[in-house]
Amino acid sequence: QTNGHEKIDYVFKVVVIGDSAVGKTQILSRFTKNEFCFDSKSTIGVEFQTRTLTIQSKVIKAQIWDTAGQERYRAVTSAYYRGALGAMLVYDITKRQTFDHVARWVEELRSHADNSIVIMLIGNKADLADLRAVPTEHAVEFAEEQGLFFSETSALSGDNVDSAFIRLLEQIYGVVS
Ligand code: GDP
Repeated sequence: QTNGHEKIDYVFKVVVIGDSAVGKTQILSRFTKNEFCFDSKSTIGVEFQTRTLTIQSKVIKAQIWDTAGQERYRAVTSAYYRGALGAMLVYDITKRQTFDHVARWVEELRSHADNSIVIMLIGNKADLADLRAVPTEHAVEFAEEQGLFFSETSALSGDNVDSAFIRLLEQIYGVVS
């Protein structure tokens, strides 16, 4: 899509947060490399990945940050949130607890990130429909109450991953332009 010499109009920092094992790293790798990596956690130490795309005729470099496992110790620092214009807040549709913790992650965003940050709630692992523990309607309702965008994705099949990121980036563009 881009030849590497194109002029970049904007760099948007996006953070991916949520409980451990919900699929944050896989969503990131699906979006930036179109890969699902069965040997997960090979990205430890890597701070962010990028993908450049065109949105409303602007060349936008999305710089997507992964917690690299820090969320396990609830040690996600303010440096991680600094300058973030968007957040992907991920839970696992098969693990009720990861959805119950979403409110805490929203609080964390509200206290550490910029007020204008655009938040997209993501119910991941939508391919595991038989194991679903969180009804879509509950998430839709929560997202509406909290003013979040919402999508269900599968990093495994790739379903909705690109469209969720593109919606988020379009919203950010709407905020900054
Ligand atoms: P993180 O700790 O939130 O970064 O989670 P990972 O990306 O490491 O994924 C945790 C586990 O869930 C791994 O075993 C992944 O292979 C698996 N996983 C991630 N996304 C999906 C998905 O969309 N569908 C299914 N079935 N498994 C997934």
